[in-house]
Amino acid sequence: MTQFIEEFTPEELQTISQEFKRLGENTYLDHAGTTLYSEKQIEYAEKVLKENLFCNPHTCKVTGDLVDQVRFRILNHFNTDANNYSVVFTANATAALKLAGECFNFGEGGRFYYCQENHTSVLGMREVVRTNDLVALTKDDLLDNLKGDENVHLTEATSNSLVVFSAQCNFSGYKLPLSLIPAIQKNGLRSQGTRVRGSSSGPDNSNFYVCLDAASFVATNFLDLSQYPADFVCVSFYKIFGYPTGVGALIVSKRGEKLLKKSYYGGGTVQISMTLEDFHVKRNGFTDHFEDGTLSFLGIAKVLEGFRTHERLIAQRGDLKPIQRISNHVFNLAKYCYDVLRQLKHPNGQKLIEFYNHTDYNSVQEQGGIITFNILHDDGTYVGFAEVACIAAIFNVQLRTGCFCNPGACQNHLKLSNDVIRKQFKAGHICSDYNDLIDGIPTGAVRMSFGYMTRKDDVDKALRIIADCYLKTDRERLRLMENSKSIPRALEHIPRRLKKTTLTKICIYPVKSCGSFEIHGSWEITERGFLYDRNWMIVDGNGMAVTQKTHIRMCLIRPRIDIEAGVLELAFPGMASISVPLDHSTEGIAKSVQTSVCQSKVCDDMVEGLDCGDEAAKWISDCLECPGMRMVRQNAGRKTKNGEAKELNLVNQGQFLLLNKTSVQWLASKVESEQEDLDITVDRFRANLIIETKTPLEENHFEEITIGSVRFKVDGFCKRCQMVCIDQHSGQKTIEPLRTIAKEFKGKIQFGIYVSLIDFKENVFISCRDDIQIKLKQT
Ligand SMILES: *Cc1c(COP(=O)(O)O)cnc(C)c1O
Repeated sequence: MTQFIEEFTPEELQTISQEFKRLGENTYLDHAGTTLYSEKQIEYAEKVLKENLFCNPHTCKVTGDLVDQVRFRILNHFNTDANNYSVVFTANATAALKLAGECFNFGEGGRFYYCQENHTSVLGMREVVRTNDLVALTKDDLLDNLKGDENVHLTEATSNSLVVFSAQCNFSGYKLPLSLIPAIQKNGLRSQGTRVRGSSSGPDNSNFYVCLDAASFVATNFLDLSQYPADFVCVSFYKIFGYPTGVGALIVSKRGEKLLKKSYYGGGTVQISMTLEDFHVKRNGFTDHFEDGTLSFLGIAKVLEGFRTHERLIAQRGDLKPIQRISNHVFNLAKYCYDVLRQLKHPNGQKLIEFYNHTDYNSVQEQGGIITFNILHDDGTYVGFAEVACIAAIFNVQLRTGCFCNPGACQNHLKLSNDVIRKQFKAGHICSDYNDLIDGIPTGAVRMSFGYMTRKDDVDKALRIIADCYLKTDRERLRLMENSKSIPRALEHIPRRLKKTTLTKICIYPVKSCGSFEIHGSWEITERGFLYDRNWMIVDGNGMAVTQKTHIRMCLIRPRIDIEAGVLELAFPGMASISVPLDHSTEGIAKSVQTSVCQSKVCDDMVEGLDCGDEAAKWISDCLECPGMRMVRQNAGRKTKNGEAKELNLVNQGQFLLLNKTSVQWLASKVESEQEDLDITVDRFRANLIIETKTPLEENHFEEITIGSVRFKVDGFCKRCQMVCIDQHSGQKTIEPLRTIAKEFKGKIQFGIYVSLIDFKENVFISCRDDIQIKLKQT
């Protein structure tokens, strides 16, 4: 029996949920990426700004004093004070690690040691440290230092070595014992680790200093610096409080202070600096030395509200501080999640989950609120993490996939050799892309992480989705055994009445991400694709183009183009339709429309557009039940990232998406859940050209296709995203057919092909009556 232990009282749970109303239907499980701020926290933090006249801390002492107040509060949180530590404010934990790396004085022969399972922000220190001796330590190398007797007692050496490790791994949630800190400071290292650069060998008799990457740890754990006196501690405050961003700190022990040297100065870090002579004197205070320029003083002021939020929402219980109770809470969630997932098995006995962890979630001392894994099919092959991310997104579950900026942990846990990693890189995989499987081997994993406002219900929802999508019920299993899995058998169901390829349907999507407009007759082709295809888009109050992924109702907005009347008509269930002019330059119409140029980003490219006026904006905002929406007509072509104009409408990739209905039928026959009308499935793909061929997947071998007199070349596969999971007629989300696509194509989520024009000519039309000719790829 799997039990969940609730740390918080019902009253606490109640108050917490009232401050996170905006979550609504969303399940947020990426607290290791950032936790969430409470709504009152923002309100109170803004109130402080509204009621005070804060000026530049270099100008007025009051602001400077407030900043110092925040330093005291931070030290107090870590159970220490200004006699023992200094707080140097930075932009984030990465900046703190970089600062420590750049400024640490290694002397002659000091070495830089880092744990292999570390964030890239630590690995980057290798490029700035002032020593040439770099050594990687495994977690076990580190743990060795807790075994056996003390080493030779170190004398005052002239060289200094720096050891960096994460207090909590952001990949697996594993917590290294903090007793390593005093052990290493006192005895140095037992293991020599793996030399990565430099030539020094033999024992290291330097003085040892410890830099703790605490960015992940302090988010949900109490760091007691009086017990574990790390010399340098790096943190980001948004990871603890969700807000503000842009404030981090390098917390430095008195012992560590002596070892940091910095040459650059700027802003408040200098007492005097002369321009015509090479002369300057730095300020005396330690932190003054390191905080160049003007601090993010308003951001820093808001950190106080973060501490107050924890205290307001979570009571001290006995000796347990709010942060320690948060620690228990997230651990209990992770343990519960782990215990449930561990028991899930496919009907054939194959386990569903491969975990990446160093512990069995038995103790909050060793394990944080993070759980990382990959899902397995019943034959033991991996489900790609991109597919899992898509499916989670369909159900409004936010989780993180990939290797989370921790390549060492990823390599260790996934047991990837250096060769495999190089091979994956050669095959085109880079950090944070969606190349999730290469030759069936995963390049990353799925991570769920918890915060104080995560509820058991959130975890249950994620667990239910995983079980529903990846575990087959007995009934489904029986059906599978009756139907052979092989493609040829499935094909027998498809009638072979078609002798040759025909064009069955032409669709355009005048407003990006809204409903389709089916063309009956013929339609003009322009240099940029079908006339009026994706000519308009909807942008939110920030000028960002919105899509069905976040505004699912968009698919219910039905556009109709009336060329004779010169209007685009928009309809929506239960609302009177409206029209906007097809062409802004038309005399008289342009005047009635308040046009302002707006810029927006579509698939990484900047586009410019003309606003379609207040009436359309209000109508769209009403449809989507979301105020502040604007409708924008594209002005000119798109510019790609490097500035070259791209003759494209607002489509994502290529000019025309071509779909084969026969392939869709084949796909539908593979879908295990209830069947829907074939045309509904076809519409999910939002294609422009829908053809029908004799056999499924023929289109994957096309090189060129000629429709009537228009020649198209094939640009490549369409990489399907979660949009296919939206039924374009009802606006309902389903996991199919995405799951089946991923399964049938071995994790590659692709279906349909992109084609583009060869040789554009003016005044060209195509229609469904046109003949089709196909040139196949040479194999
Ligand atoms: C998040 C994180 C970092 C980097 O923090 P930034 O705020 O992005 O600078 C470094 N190390 C670990 C362990 C982290 O979790």
